[in-house]
Amino acid sequence: MRLVVYDGSKVGLLKDTQVVDVSDIVGAGQEEWPPVAVSRLIGGFAKLRPRLEEALKTRKGTALDSVRLGPPVPYPSKVIAAPANYRLHIQEMSTPQMREVVKQEVHAIDQYGVFLKAPSSVVGPGATIELPFPDRRTDHEVELGFVVGKTARNVKMADAMAYVFGYTGVMDITVRGGEDRSTRKSFDSFTPLGPALVTADEVPDPHNLQLKLWVNGELRQDGNSKDMIWNIPKLVEYASHVMTLYPGDVVSTGTPDGVGPLKAGDEVTIEIERIGRMSVKVDLRKP
Ligand code: MN
Repeated sequence: MRLVVYDGSKVGLLKDTQVVDVSDIVGAGQEEWPPVAVSRLIGGFAKLRPRLEEALKTRKGTALDSVRLGPPVPYPSKVIAAPANYRLHIQEMSTPQMREVVKQEVHAIDQYGVFLKAPSSVVGPGATIELPFPDRRTDHEVELGFVVGKTARNVKMADAMAYVFGYTGVMDITVRGGEDRSTRKSFDSFTPLGPALVTADEVPDPHNLQLKLWVNGELRQDGNSKDMIWNIPKLVEYASHVMTLYPGDVVSTGTPDGVGPLKAGDEVTIEIERIGRMSVKVDLRKP
């Protein structure tokens, strides 16, 4: 199943190039605040699933290209992310030139653990990344994100995959420099998610997915999730030892190599195998 949020707070399921409205089934109200219908759907999925499948079979859809997609998880209680989780990315961050930009030595994830991005930085496909500092390097990172399906605390690696509801694409937009990651990666619009939330049954091997990113049509990143240093079970085990994970929490698994700077006017596109493709624009932040 491929879940989307569209036209404000509507919740839908993708059927080929159509989107089937299931807002009534999941109780997604327009102007709802906080916008937690998808989190509720995920938490109650086992119960809702038969009605959602029925709707997918029987309801008429709307053309996907006529709706405006939002982030498939608009209000995660947390966005957890993995720093330095691909060796080639650590290498590219460790050149003498990059050391000047990043102001610190870059180690592998086992030296850092995980970090948090502000949930308020989440936006959807078609959004605009707003650069807060025109004079500071701000980079793109394409990442596979997984979404937590049930409350998880102290989960062992062997049990971890049962806590994964599904997968989505993440851009982990990052100002380079010496500040804490939670600052540099939490500006509004710095976490585009999408285009859809794909349930785990449609992604038999999340540790073998190609991740690509283009800037203005030029391929900049082309990696595979098989190269993660900490895999998904390890990330679940580690993160759930630190904090209770709730349905709808997003965990971004780190970027492969090929990161690079963005500038106003750019268009950034990501494509993750089995998950889909989405684009966002880049502009300077409005004063
Ligand atoms: Mn990242």
